Formats: sequence, structure tokens, C-alpha cells
Amino acid sequence: MKESSLNCLEKAAYGEEEMARQTILQQLGDINEDLPYEIFIETVAQAPIAISITDRKANILYVNRAFSEVTGYLPEEAIGKNQSLLSNKNTPRAVYKKLWSTISKKKCWQGRLVNRHGSGRPYLADLTIAPMLDKNGNISHYIGMLRDITANYEAEQRLKNHKQLIESVINLLPVAVAVIDCENRVVLDNHSYKALISDLGIDEPADHFLGLIREEMGDAWSKLQENGQSFDHREYRIDRTPKSARWFSCAGAFFYENAIHADNFFNPKQGRYLILTLTDITRQRRQVEHSHIQNLKLMIAEDEQVRTIRETLLGAMHQIQVPMNQIKAAEQILQFRQDEQNKGLLDILQQIQQSGTEALENMQGCLPEIPQSAVIPVNLNQLLHESLLLSEQKIRSFGIDIVWKPESRLPPVLGSENRLRILFKQLLDNAIEAMEAARIKDMELTLTTARGGNGLVHVCIADNGHGIPEDKHMKVFEPFYTTRHKGGSQAGTGLAMTKEIMTQHQGLIEIDTAYQRGCRFKLSFPVYDKAYEEGMT
Ligand code: FAD
Repeated sequence: MKESSLNCLEKAAYGEEEMARQTILQQLGDINEDLPYEIFIETVAQAPIAISITDRKANILYVNRAFSEVTGYLPEEAIGKNQSLLSNKNTPRAVYKKLWSTISKKKCWQGRLVNRHGSGRPYLADLTIAPMLDKNGNISHYIGMLRDITANYEAEQRLKNHKQLIESVINLLPVAVAVIDCENRVVLDNHSYKALISDLGIDEPADHFLGLIREEMGDAWSKLQENGQSFDHREYRIDRTPKSARWFSCAGAFFYENAIHADNFFNPKQGRYLILTLTDITRQRRQVEHSHIQNLKLMIAEDEQVRTIRETLLGAMHQIQVPMNQIKAAEQILQFRQDEQNKGLLDILQQIQQSGTEALENMQGCLPEIPQSAVIPVNLNQLLHESLLLSEQKIRSFGIDIVWKPESRLPPVLGSENRLRILFKQLLDNAIEAMEAARIKDMELTLTTARGGNGLVHVCIADNGHGIPEDKHMKVFEPFYTTRHKGGSQAGTGLAMTKEIMTQHQGLIEIDTAYQRGCRFKLSFPVYDKAYEEGMT
């Protein structure tokens, strides 16, 4: 046995040292008889953790080298004193009560105490007390193992403060923020984000928006993720009701965190997180939308003017064409008879026909062209919503109830925004007129969009007006056919036009025969894809 260790133990005098030694040696002996006791004693003496051995009343009998370093008390200053020497006198009584009640029951106690260093500075001690039993099973000594964890504690607290500060700053932000891990779980969010959950009625708004971003970006999303590139200004519309539709601008930035697991010590790994911000831009969008709708109204008014002129001219041409056909038939009969008597009449008929044809050609030449617009991928929810806004005045004045059921993630359709708006507006105006004509008390207009499983997008516009008899379901799409009383303002070209627009979009329009409450138009459009785009040109 080394002198120094023995000396230490020997210094732990006061009559109990021999007993302490015996108990320790006895317990160590249980471990391995072949190992010399000196090894154990030297191990305790050299251990980097502060170790002390006390009697049953916590009077110190032995301290190792690290004890002096940690507590600031030399062995001669500590031995013979009570462990309370180490106290900073502000650890709550309850802690000591618990400590003593635990160790008195022959159990180990582990906890944190505030101690005062020999130099006077307080420090946080992580203390483990193990009772040692004599051969009769009674507590003979206590072993205390103590570490100064002040630095760890301060780092821990700094980290907590830092986290709190970040959380407070994030919470104060007027934009919704969510931090998403690589398994798409939201690991941190702020008040604005939580408010979105209830406002939008979506369980996890981050999932919803990421779904929209992924869908919109396609393959580019995986590349962006791989390269950890950020993105911003991705704007999406969330439809609750047409009036409460909201717009969000999404931005995201990836950040990487070092893995904290022990098995990553020699093999450092990084975890990827996405910080997603969702800024409510509904107000700005509404302002933009307002001026957009005003422009659209002007455009539609112009378009309607062109259309009225076209309809009037086409109507007149249609009117002229009927007697012209009769004259042609009469001419053919006279020519067939080869009757010399009626030659004069035949000449007159031919002259009438010629001037009639010229008049028709002139009228044809005067037909104003419908302005063409670009064919691009469009969102039918957006166009339907704009069409509603275009008819807003009528809807409001009749107190019509709008039932808005849009598909939240509607795939785009390739088409002309102007033409599609005109199409929807025509169907909406027809529906409003039908409900008004039927003097319906609770007028209801239902607008539904849905993604079909067959590469189609479906739009339904239903009213609770007088409906269209089933035998007229095909006829109403013919030009100049109208179910209204003669002399009405409409020439009966509206539905013919809707059919023409649908055909231009390779879509289909039909009246739902199963619908009994009024009239329901079902429109189907092919979902936009490259192949379809080529087909449209
Ligand atoms: P009190 O808690 O009022 O107790 C006074 C003394 O009475 C105690 O020191 C103890 O000798 C004795 N005593 C109290 N309750 C019992 C009991 N149930 N059974 C037997 N004796 C009892 N405290 C610290 O503040 N810092 C330390 O680092 C620290 N290390 C310790 C290490 C060991 C191995 C042990 C056994 C105790 C340790 N203590 C430590 C506790 C310490 O002994 C005191 O209980 C504590 O400091 C409160 O001091 P006090 O003067 O208010 O004493």
C-alpha cells in the first residue's frame, strides 16, 4: 500500500478510522480477492471526482485529492468537520430532509446542492451519497462523491435562456413560423402558426403548404432539398369561403444541426431542418384583386359589347338566312320547271338572292373579332372566385347564398383565363337569372371543384331555380335557342358560347340529369400536362 493513501486514511482518525478501513476493505474484498486493497485505495485517492468518507453523522473521516480541488478545503481543514462545512447555507431544508431520509434508509441519494468553495465563491455541486453497511447490515459510513457542475449548469441555463429568447422572438413575429425536421414533423412553432391551425381548420398547416410547394415545384423540390437551397415568395390561396379566402406567401430556409447522439462522436452526422414562414398577404392580395376585378369588369364589358354586336349581327344574319333559303328553294323550283312565263320572276329571285348574299357577306365582314388571349396553366378555383366577384353586385342584391366547396389542391388546367372567366360568368348569370325568374325565396348557388381520378378537373355550378326540362338538355347548347319568352333580352347564344369555350379547352359541359333542385352544370377539364399543352397549339 502506498504511503500517501495510507496517510490519508490514517489522518481520518478520531477512533473510527480502523473501522472505516475495515468496512471499506471488507466491501472491496467482495469484489475480487486477487486484487490488492492498495489498488482500490489508490484508485479512490487518484479519482478525478471529489470523494469523501464520513461517519454516520456526516463527520468527514477521509477526503481524496480531487476533494480539495473541488471544494477548496485541504484534508486538514476538512477532516473532523461536518459535511455542512461545504454548504453555502441556502440549499432549501427540504432537500436535506429528503437527503437524510433517503440515506438513513440505506439507499443512495443523488442531487444538487449549492456549496461554497473554500475561497468563498458559491458553486453547484452534483452529489451522490452512498451508505456503507457493516457486517450486521447497519450503516457504518457514508461515501460522498461530488462534482462541481457550475460550468455545465451555467451552459445549460444559457442554452435555456437562449432558447427562451429565440422562442420569444419567434412568438413576437407577425408571420407564422414552423421548424420541420427531416421526417416532416413540426418540432417548433410560434403563436401565429398555432393561430393558423384554428383559423384555417387545418391540423398541420406546414404539411398543407409543403404539399402545395412540392406539387408546384415537382422535381425541382428534391434538388432544392438536396442542395439546402432556400425559397421565397411562393404564394398560395386557401379557400374557406369565397369571402374568407386567404393568401399566404411561403418562404423556407434549410439549416443543419449536428447529431447529438454518443454514437455520432467519431462519425459526426447532421440533421436537416426546414424553417418555414407563412406570411398572410390576404390584405395586399385583396387590394390587388380589387383593381384586378375592376380591370376584368372593363375587359368583360368590352367583350360583352363585342359579343352583343356579334350576336345582333349573327341574329340578323340568321333572320335573313331563313327567307333567303326560302327564296333559294323557290328559285330551284322555278328552274326545275323551266317555265318561260316565270323567267322574269326567276331573274328577280336571283337578283334578290345575290343582293341577299352580298348583304350577308357584308355583315360577316362586319363581325367584330373576339380578342384572343394567351393559353397558360390556370387555377380554376381562382377563376371561379373572380367570376363570383364579377357578379358580386347581383349576388348581393338578391341575397344569394353562396355554397363554396373548392378542392384545396386543385391541379392546374391549361386554358385562356379570359375565356374561362366569361364561361363561368355566363353560367353564374344564367343561374342567378333562373332563380330570380322562379322567385325563389332562399336562393342558393353551389360551386364545387374537384380533382377526378381520371386526369380531369371537375367544376359544378348548381342553382335552385326552375331548372331545365330533361328533353331540352341538349337543345339549350344550340345557338339561338332560348327557354325564355320571346322578346327577352337574350338571343340564346350564351350556352352555345360556353360549349364552344369548353370545346376549345378540350373539356365537356353537360347538365346533370340527376339533380332535381334546379339546374346543375357539370364541367370537366383535362388536368394540365405537357402532352396536353402540345395538343392545344
Ligand atoms: P442539518 O441538516 O440541520 O443537520 C445537522 C447535522 O446533523 C448533519 O450535518 C448531520 O451530521 C446530522 N444529521 C441531520 N440529520 C440526520 C439524520 N437523519 N441522521 C444522522 N445525522 C443527521 N451538505 C451540503 O450542504 N453540502 C455537501 O456537499 C454535503 N455533502 C454531504 C456528504 C455526505 C457523505 C453526507 C452524509 C452529507 C452531506 N451533506 C452535505 C449534508 C450535511 O451533512 C448537512 O445535512 C447539510 O449541510 C445541512 O447542514 P445543517 O448545518 O443545516 O445541518
